[in-house]
Amino acid sequence: MIGKRGPRTRSAEREVLPASGTGPPSRPSGVRLTSTSMPVRRTKRGADRTPLEGSWDVVICGASFAGLTVARELAGSGARVLVLDRYEIGERQTSACGAPTEWLENMGAADSIRQTFDELDFHTPHTDTVMKLPWSFSTFDYPQLCALLWAQCGDAVFETAKVEGLRGERPAPGSSLSRDHIFELETDRGVVSAPLMVDCLGWRRVLGADGYQPPDGPLSRGLEVHPGGRGDRMELWIERGVVPAGYGWSFPAEDELRVGVGSFDPRFHVKKPTVELAERLELPPEGYQGNWIPHRLREATEGGVFFCGDSAGHCLPLTAEGIRTAFYFSIAAGRELRRVVDGRADRATALRRYAAFNARHRWQFEWMLRVQKLIPRVPPRLLAPALRGLSSDAFVKWSFNHYLNVAHPSFALEGANGASANDEPGAGKEQGDSEEPVDRDLSLT
Ligand SMILES: Cc1cc2nc3c(=O)[nH]c(=O)nc-3n(C[C@H](O)[C@H](O)[C@H](O)COP(=O)(O)OP(=O)(O)OC[C@H]3O[C@@H](n4cnc5c(N)ncnc54)[C@H](O)[C@@H]3O)c2cc1C
Repeated sequence: MIGKRGPRTRSAEREVLPASGTGPPSRPSGVRLTSTSMPVRRTKRGADRTPLEGSWDVVICGASFAGLTVARELAGSGARVLVLDRYEIGERQTSACGAPTEWLENMGAADSIRQTFDELDFHTPHTDTVMKLPWSFSTFDYPQLCALLWAQCGDAVFETAKVEGLRGERPAPGSSLSRDHIFELETDRGVVSAPLMVDCLGWRRVLGADGYQPPDGPLSRGLEVHPGGRGDRMELWIERGVVPAGYGWSFPAEDELRVGVGSFDPRFHVKKPTVELAERLELPPEGYQGNWIPHRLREATEGGVFFCGDSAGHCLPLTAEGIRTAFYFSIAAGRELRRVVDGRADRATALRRYAAFNARHRWQFEWMLRVQKLIPRVPPRLLAPALRGLSSDAFVKWSFNHYLNVAHPSFALEGANGASANDEPGAGKEQGDSEEPVDRDLSLT
């Protein structure tokens, strides 16, 4: 979807600052400072943290982009769904919160949009390039997006609890769960059980057997600051002086700037370059948030558990865009879970189909990972002409449309709420799949 040229702002449920002016000329990004506030802890503490127990049909661990999306797909299914997170929904922002506008619209979260961009500014030491995007990108308000998603999650129940792991033996690699296996999940508030278990806990892959240990493993690291202010350009910096392998960014979001640095090399510390980039833009480095970002696709099922979002390595290499892919794969997983809940598939089939869906995207992730590894090897003097060549309208349109197709926003509208099978357009069904009702082999009681 192509929006109007330049930024659009949407209404916010908070004081809106005057929008006129682009800031003092000395500011390279045309930003204007405003005040910023610290997040307030809302998670229950002490005596409010009552014991948690009971059996559920589906337990979804993690209530960010991935977890809320899985729960949303189960709305109205009649399943008893428990969603767990160590923080309240929307309490802790986990990203710069930029995503294709159409994804936000199709997820029913357009009201969370703060600013929309149809152009992307690339800076290298030798050139500045403006790319006209064939589809727009928007920054959004994280708490509001989470609230909008949660409002679509029907009767799902949310509890704050730290997930510690699964009880009992894991099936050996390659072997499957017994048909009547019920998972028991340990949390800091007690044990809950369910036949359908989803890990949306981020890069740690808490419910998997082999989590990464930073800085080892295919992880990037990202850090950003959120000073108050205004800007009208979405900007990226590819400069070895900022980060040897990776990029810096500035994403304006109405009354704040999200300025950060991501390094594909997990051993490269990004605090100093983040502060330096903020200083270059004459912004105070305040409101830090950062995390590890997995940049390799993983198995989407393991030991009978569904993994979605960063826990499955669904963040795209090269761009570190992980929100729309968290939506995309979580919708896919949610639709499979719904087929089980509705009695249209058994758990083993759902796991197999979701794993196959994930595997069909492996080549795209691997291709992007190859480019991620290649870019730091391009000599800086070649980067500028290469970037200018890649900035022609025709090439940008072609490449960005291919890029969007990796996880296209139309997927959010196809077969919503489990109405159809979980297949990409043009993709064949998995062997042995059937839309015929099957006996439930799980005690979904
Ligand atoms: C600095 C930075 C900026 C980024 N900017 C962008 C961007 O602009 N656009 C984009 O597309 N991607 C961006 N990304 C990547 C994006 O943030 C991730 O890919 C995305 O957040 C993945 O979503 P998720 O739901 O899988 O995991 P997360 O968003 O990480 O959510 C995991 C959830 O699990 C909870 N949790 C974790 N462990 C436990 C536990 N043991 N018990 C209970 N709860 C737990 C957490 O509280 C959290 O709510 C950025 C990443 C970083 C680090």
